[in-house]
Amino acid sequence: MPELSWAAGTDVGRRKKNEDAYVVRGDVFAVADGMGGHARGDVAATMAVEALAGLRERFQRTELLEVIRRVHQEISALAADTGGLGMGTTLTGIGFESERPNVVLVFNVGDSRVYRLRGSELRQLTHDHSVVQELIDAGHITAAEAGSHPDRNVVTRSLGEGGHLEIDWHQEHTRGGDRFLVCSDGLVKEVDEPTIVAVLLESTTADEAVQRLVRTAVEHGGRDNVTVAIVDVAPTDAPALDEDPDIDVDTNPRPPDRSDRDGLLIADTDPGRAGFAGSAAGR
Ligand code: MN
Repeated sequence: MPELSWAAGTDVGRRKKNEDAYVVRGDVFAVADGMGGHARGDVAATMAVEALAGLRERFQRTELLEVIRRVHQEISALAADTGGLGMGTTLTGIGFESERPNVVLVFNVGDSRVYRLRGSELRQLTHDHSVVQELIDAGHITAAEAGSHPDRNVVTRSLGEGGHLEIDWHQEHTRGGDRFLVCSDGLVKEVDEPTIVAVLLESTTADEAVQRLVRTAVEHGGRDNVTVAIVDVAPTDAPALDEDPDIDVDTNPRPPDRSDRDGLLIADTDPGRAGFAGSAAGR
């Protein structure tokens, strides 16, 4: 596992309550966004991040994915008792297996996002599960049109919707100096990618980047809860090991489509309920 430093924070924005939640535990960093229109999005989001927080140390990839599937079933069971209102959450993040140095596992359900800043290039590593993303993929709307689309709030995959959960996941090599951003849609809805890049480049520490990104989202309108986690891979003077052919990286059958990364977002949630609030940092 690479040497990491990290920070995370959240803000309710102009909503009454914060139904985002996050977990940062040194090897797993994830954001959950409780679903708008659902009865208890805060409960679902908190269950999701607490499930990851309870993952055993030195976990294997399959265990992390199994934990997500299990809590999906638990949330789905609770949702069945809500009189049809349902409850759900996104769950998006990164994990580092202790026995797989220089490899990061990226996982996603819903429309929260993972980005990687490498040098000055920001790359979105996840693909949204949303109605507008599907319309963009099909060529029916542009990314610019997505922000005003009537279905911009609708996610097409979430924890708590019942049935088998398909988790998008893949692995990537890390490099010294990589900076990962895990965020809820409340960030990308308010702050465009060039601004995100500028803040990431100007912020020396993970904590500074978190504070500035959250503040910028709130200052730009803060129409939704905003949650940000930043994970920095320590720079190294050693020759890059990142493309080491002895380290095999895996992916699920549907690797991320990175063809549509220029858009603003897209999803939104209704005024919410209390969630994990506050901030955390570590090293
Ligand atoms: Mn949201």
